[in-house]
Amino acid sequence: MTDPAEVRAQVAAWLAQAWDPELSLAQWRARLADSGWACPTWPREWGGRGLPAAAAGVVAQEFARTGAVPAPEGVGMNLAGPTILEHGSDELKRRFLRSTITGEIRWCQLFSEPGAGSDLAGLQARAQRSGGEFIVSGQKVWNTSAHHADFGLLLARTDWDAPKHRGITYFILPMRQPGVEVRPLRQMNGHASFNEVFLDQARVPAGNVIGDVNAGWTVALTTLAHERRLAAFSRPPAHASGAPIGQPPGRAVREAAAESERAMAPYRWYPQRAGRPDLVIERAVAAGRHTDPLVRQEIVKLITLAWSARWTAQRAAAARALGRPPGPEGSVAKLASSNIARAAARVHALIAGPAGQLAGADDPSGEGGRAEGGRAGIISEILLSVPAVSIAGGTDQIQRTILGERILGLPREPAADAGVPFRDVRRSG
Ligand SMILES: Cc1cc2nc3c(=O)[nH]c(=O)nc-3n(C[C@H](O)[C@H](O)[C@H](O)COP(=O)(O)OP(=O)(O)OC[C@H]3O[C@@H](n4cnc5c(N)ncnc54)[C@H](O)[C@@H]3O)c2cc1C
Repeated sequence: MTDPAEVRAQVAAWLAQAWDPELSLAQWRARLADSGWACPTWPREWGGRGLPAAAAGVVAQEFARTGAVPAPEGVGMNLAGPTILEHGSDELKRRFLRSTITGEIRWCQLFSEPGAGSDLAGLQARAQRSGGEFIVSGQKVWNTSAHHADFGLLLARTDWDAPKHRGITYFILPMRQPGVEVRPLRQMNGHASFNEVFLDQARVPAGNVIGDVNAGWTVALTTLAHERRLAAFSRPPAHASGAPIGQPPGRAVREAAAESERAMAPYRWYPQRAGRPDLVIERAVAAGRHTDPLVRQEIVKLITLAWSARWTAQRAAAARALGRPPGPEGSVAKLASSNIARAAARVHALIAGPAGQLAGADDPSGEGGRAEGGRAGIISEILLSVPAVSIAGGTDQIQRTILGERILGLPREPAADAGVPFRDVRRSG
């Protein structure tokens, strides 16, 4: 069954008999996990239906149309699940996939360190085997969702004598234990959405290694590829879509909305980090700047950029639906989203002038702020949030290097530490 119309008919028929808004969220998610429609592209034996990538969009549309609650968004379904599917043992798949689909367990990503971001393979958290477990110490940083995660996708060094890419192991770290301390970080936009994670003799069962010991870099590349795709094509987080118009939401929808509200509270600013090009015209009209030729010209440049990126994404989706291999479109998408976010921030600043820096009650354009969920100061939030897009999931510069090497076939960036035992590599920290 790969024909989109057939997929649509099948999921619609299943939802018509299975979706019951009066179930508890846990009951509904269990039913959903049994059906395979929560993650239709995953293999059948691991909670999916073995459908091609293009089917996911069709299924999501049917869930939205019906108002049925989908699988939980986040690191679990987007990064942990696909990584375990590709590299994990059957034992790990059995232990972790279903409870990720049902939302019983939550995940975070423990990759970056104060001295290892772009140069991720230079990481220095250390894991040492001790009987049936590994003991891990080190510091991670920028860890989204670590404050409520049950498990972390952890990279740590297990061989200091191997070259840097070859001495890393990929672990599933139980977060709720004495050796793991999570501290929130306050960002310049005022929110606290990320954390530092301090590991002091934290314990990981040896069975929690994904892939082989010292072969974690290959596994990490899978997670990073999924992360880039996500960063490129992500939309503002979807809340449970609710009941059909005119009907009160049922129990599953209410519980999903409460879950989403709790989980998403630290990320309310996420739409703003994309630069909000959708708000530019209305803000120009509201501020009376829409007749200014310079403002008009900048708006058109921005809209051209945003629309051509959208069409490129649609071309990539259409190619995937036809079963063609991924082309360069996917790789340029993350860079495009970062260019658009910065261009949008510039246009918003041009329109708002110095008042765009004001936040809260001081913002004179309170109307627009209130329209955005009661918050004035939305322009200042855009200006302070946009830089995140150029850093998270790989910086613009790193993305250009990837494009140059893998898409354009340019010579590889020189690596002074290639083949050198990590112990002897010059490093910070
Ligand atoms: C919003 C947000 C969310 C994040 N979430 C997570 C998370 O959940 N889990 C996690 O593990 N990490 C997370 N990160 C961390 C993120 O992956 C790193 O911040 C990123 O990889 C950059 O690393 P760095 O901050 O150490 O910067 P650096 O690597 O120190 O880079 C500093 C500057 O130098 C440039 N640079 C570095 N190397 C090169 C090179 N070889 N060529 C050209 N230029 C170079 C960079 O482009 C950048 O401009 C998040 C970051 C942000 C901003």
